This record gives sequence, structure tokens and C-alpha cells, in this order.
Amino acid sequence: MTDQTTRHLPAGLPDRIQHYIGGKLVDSVDGDTFDVLEPVTNEVYVRAAAGKAADVALAVAAAREAFVNGPWPRMLPRERSRVLHRIADIVESRDARLAELESFDSGLPITQALGQARRAAENFRFFADLVVAQSDDTFKVPGRQINYVNRKPIGVAGLITPWNTPFMLESWKLGPALATGNTVVLKPAEFTPLSASLWAGIFEEAGLPDGVFNLVNGLGEDAGDALVKHPDVPLISFTGESSTGQLIFANAAPYLKGLSMELGGKSPAVVFADADLEAAIDATIFGVFSLNGERCTAGSRILVERSVYDEFVERYAERAERVVVGDPQDPRTEVGALVHPEHYEKVVSYIEIGRSEGRLVAGGGRPEGFEAGNYVAPTVFADVPPSARIFQEEIFGPVVAITPFDTEEEALALANGVRYGLAAYVWTNDLKRAHNFAQSVEAGMVWLNSNNVRDLRTPFGGVKASGLGHEGGYRSIDFYTDQQAVHITL
Ligand code: NAD
Repeated sequence: MTDQTTRHLPAGLPDRIQHYIGGKLVDSVDGDTFDVLEPVTNEVYVRAAAGKAADVALAVAAAREAFVNGPWPRMLPRERSRVLHRIADIVESRDARLAELESFDSGLPITQALGQARRAAENFRFFADLVVAQSDDTFKVPGRQINYVNRKPIGVAGLITPWNTPFMLESWKLGPALATGNTVVLKPAEFTPLSASLWAGIFEEAGLPDGVFNLVNGLGEDAGDALVKHPDVPLISFTGESSTGQLIFANAAPYLKGLSMELGGKSPAVVFADADLEAAIDATIFGVFSLNGERCTAGSRILVERSVYDEFVERYAERAERVVVGDPQDPRTEVGALVHPEHYEKVVSYIEIGRSEGRLVAGGGRPEGFEAGNYVAPTVFADVPPSARIFQEEIFGPVVAITPFDTEEEALALANGVRYGLAAYVWTNDLKRAHNFAQSVEAGMVWLNSNNVRDLRTPFGGVKASGLGHEGGYRSIDFYTDQQAVHITL
């Protein structure tokens, strides 16, 4: 536990958060705002413009104008790439400030927020390089035909993002959308608008033309909904809850929009008896408690082979008790404050449900000494049956369910026995088993004896209720571009 008595208010906080439309910071047309809370005290520290359909319409019009008449879609990939590299340089040079603001606004531990700021810079660098390296199919049928591909930006991309690691997740969409020559309207999550308010200054400094990037703050059911239903927005890239994704899918259907959906998860970490237990415990502790457990790929169900089950549970619970909960701005902190009191209530209500579904072996709610703020002790339930709600439902906090299994078949059935399919982690020293399990597990991404680190060229996305479509590498480029085939008879 770290010191709870000092409140760290970052210097230079804005006195209000506005929209950014056509190169200008503006308030909502109707002047409406919403409160933004600081997760350590739950005090309102700023008010943000609450966008509605009228604000979205202005932002889309600015983005459309920049797409139809502006230079951005017509620039060479190399020229756009230079701007994106400048964006990456600026983000990198401000990583400490970004981390300070992100940690303050979201409750993420500062050291982890710093890593996310650097990853945001890397996202821009990666897509800046990729559009220059990009090659497309050309096929020649000698004496008969030449076929080639015209790759074109699509138009105004609507980007809707969640509150967990907000700046980094915004960059994961902004990077490829901009690199490919689209213009964008970003609707960041209403719990965490602070870091998104920095994009405008960063983009102006890097030389992005006005109107290419637009931002509308506001609630999902107002600003987000208006973006999804705007006829001049042919693409929606969404990251958030599966239920929101379903609603957006339905709302976008009349417009036949291109959709990329990165949704929720309840990912299994499967530990076989022959695994390196120390490494598996390390990784599964990190896998569910880092980023406050507010991580889409969190390994929130741990399935353990029965012969090592008791030992695993005992050692795991002991490690969980030692995870340092504290002030997000303290570099010693490993679990900070959850993002918002509403989310805190949700996580704590699952812990109460878990008390009758499993055996509580660590944590169990608000840690001692933390009277205010959205603090939750790393919480571990053992002996959790697959029918339990804490086994089936995404909690999105520092709460993990551990379940024993006897055979590989049973482990697979347990791993696949939920509606989600985002990630899976397998711990075993039997390589054949590891690869066969990876083949059969219903997950978009599998880590074998490893944890969450990935090459940005690989596909990122889920199956089942965890998403539709994949981003990452050329898959992102494909989503944000039309590929027109041209055929010439010789
Ligand atoms: P959320 O679905 O509540 O909100 C996400 C965004 O959608 C917000 O900007 C919100 O304002 C907006 N929104 C809400 N209702 C809308 C509507 N009707 N129309 C348009 N937009 C709307 O999700 P959240 O609570 O912010 O984020 C947590 C969720 O995100 C978790 O389920 C997590 O697993 C998921 N997530 C997934 C990934 C991934 O890559 N698969 C990554 C991060 C988070």
C-alpha cells in the first residue's frame, strides 16, 4: 500500500474540455457539458463539452470537406508518413506529461501509463512505415491481360473508443486511419476525455491539415450514436463492450457501413502441471492485475491442472496479497484506482456475487486504509464452477476466477465454455500440446508460455462475442481503404 494522504493534482490542467472541429476548439452548439471525475477522490475536476447530433454534424462536415477538397487524401504515402513520424516524435517527447495526465484521469498506475504513452507513439511510427512499404497485387497474364489494384482512402472514419488506456487505443485507430489518407471524427470515452484533448495540439504542431482530425466529446448515446447514424461516415471503428458493439452493429446496418469491432473478453489462462509454475504465476498475476484489471485481454479465468492446483492457488493468493495497491501517481503502485464510481460499483458487486460462487482466497473489496476513491484489492476466487457468473461475465477489474481441471479435453471445454473469444494463454512445457491447444481454443490471439507482448504486424481481434474483423498490420490498412481492381486487356 502507498501513501493515500496526498492528492496529486497535475500542473496546467485545462479549465474546460472542448470539441475540436475544422481546426478550432469549440463548445457544444447547445452549450451543454458533463462532469469529469478524478478516480482517486471522485471529485469533479473539469467539465467537458457534451456533444450531440448537431456537433457531430459539424465535425463530419469539416472532415468531409477536408476529404473532398483538402490535400491529405491526395498526398503521397511518403508525405503523410512524414507527418505521422512527427506526431510520434511529439508524443514520445511528452511521454511523461501524457502519462501524468492519463494516470490522473483514468487511475492507471503511472509506470503503466508511461508504457502506454510510448506504445501510442509506436502505433504512429508503425503505420507511418507500413503505408510506405505497402505493395498491392498486380497480375499479368502474358499476351492477354494486366490486373492491378488501386488502393484508395474511403472517406470520413468514425472512431469510437473506450476509457481503458484511452490515449493508446485512440492512437491504434488514428494511426492507420490517417496514414491511409482518410479524415476522422474521434468520439473518446466520456469517463476519460483528458488525454484525448491533447491530440489537437499535437496534430497542429506536426502539420496535419485542418479538418483532417476532428474530435467530439460526449455521451455514447448522444455523440457516439449520432456518429454511427451519420450518412457521411462510411466507416466505424469501435472498441468497447460487446453489448454496445451489438447496438452499433444494428444502428449501422441501414447505412451498410464498414465496421471494425474490438469487444469484450473473458480470457482463459490454462496452466498444465508440467509448466514452469513460477513463470506461470508471474505472468497470470500480471495478466489480470496490470492496468487495474481494466484490460480487454486480461487472463481473468485461470484453469489449473488438478495435480498442481492446491500449490498454485496457495502461491497465487499469496502473490496477489503482495500486489501494491496505491495512489496511481506513485511509481511503486501496481494497482491504482478504478476509472469511475459506476465501474467501481460494478466490480464490487461481482465480488459480492463471487463470495457465494467460489472460495475467496485473496482481496475481497475495498482495501484497508482506502476510505475514498475507487480502490479494489486484487481479488482471487478459487474453486469457481463454470456455471458461475464470475466465470462467465466480463468484470473488467482486478478480480480473477481459478478453476481446476483433470484432462486436456476438460481444459479445452472450460476455456471455450464462455461467449467471449478474445485471448488465451497456455502454460505447458509440452510443445505439441501447446500448439494443438492453440489450434482448438476459440480465441483471436493465443500466447504460449508468454504474456501479451506482440508484434504490431500480427492480427489483433477476437472471435465470438469478442469482435468482428481484425486490426493490426495490413489488416488495418485493408479496413481503412477500398481496393479497386483494374483490368486491362492487352
Ligand atoms: P462502452 O461500450 O461502454 O463504451 C465504449 C465507447 O462507446 C465510449 O466512447 C462510449 O461513449 C461509446 N458508446 C456507448 N454507447 C454508444 C452507442 N449507443 N452508440 C455509439 N457509441 C456508444 O465500453 P467501455 O466501458 O468504455 O470500455 C470497456 C469495454 O471495452 C470492455 O468490454 C473491454 O473488454 C472492451 N475493450 C475491448 C478491446 C479490444 O480490443 N477487444 C480493447 C479495450 C477495451
